[in-house]
Amino acid sequence: VIEVSELHKAFGDLQVLRGVDLRVERGEVVCIIGPSGSGKSTLLRCVNMLEQPNAGRVSVDGVDLTDPDVDIDAARRRIGMVFQSFNLFGHLNVLDNLTVAQRKVLKRDKENAETVARANLTKVGLSEKEKSFPNQLSGGQQQRVAIARALSMDPDVMLFDEPTSALDPELVGDVLGVMRQLADEGMTMLVVTHEMQFARDVADKVLFMDGGVIVEQGDPEQVIGAPQHERTKSFLARVL
Ligand code: ATP
Ligand code: MG
Repeated sequence: VIEVSELHKAFGDLQVLRGVDLRVERGEVVCIIGPSGSGKSTLLRCVNMLEQPNAGRVSVDGVDLTDPDVDIDAARRRIGMVFQSFNLFGHLNVLDNLTVAQRKVLKRDKENAETVARANLTKVGLSEKEKSFPNQLSGGQQQRVAIARALSMDPDVMLFDEPTSALDPELVGDVLGVMRQLADEGMTMLVVTHEMQFARDVADKVLFMDGGVIVEQGDPEQVIGAPQHERTKSFLARVL
């Protein structure tokens, strides 16, 4: 579903991505691990064109997003994204957070949008919170609302950028639980995470990124359990 080849991205003189290739097949969960500043977020942001790559190709569902003629808004609609900071609309209650883009972008009517929203709130275990405002929810609840909001757009793939790293430790499990459930349901997911146990249990493939390239990739037992490269070993020694 996602195909990235020879991706390069620089900010001024700073080369952040130096030729990244990756594939995520339908139904696969791919986790990206790596040190701070290695380019993980930039890579994710290039996948949905929040950042414009300098060279290389990104295609999602066979649509080349780097093609200047492509309808980028239409393509982006198929890609759900969840960030470290929850990015909910503070002035809207939970239900409205979940319906606003459905109505504006997908042109769903109010009733239909609310039906979809409620189904997704139930899925993330927050059906009783639809009238709450974001500041009345814990960080973990806000992140689950953000996931439900992304799901309400019926994405083909979900991108997660360290969705649990801003959370108090006791709230991390609920969010990872929702992500596990999504994976079990067959959602295609590309996840940047520092949660090694999650990567080990859930990922079909783990990529270790350092210095703007993928240094090592393979199944989780291989990359996390028996890394081959020095850089992977020293990173894991620091985080495990
Ligand atoms: P972390 O684990 O800390 O989130 P990361 O692997 O996600 O790190 P990126 O956020 O992709 O790393 O950043 C890679 C490098 O690119 C960093 O040196 C960062 O300062 C730089 N960078 C990222 N975004 C921009 C930007 N918009 N303008 C200039 N430099 C940027
Ligand atoms: Mg990042």
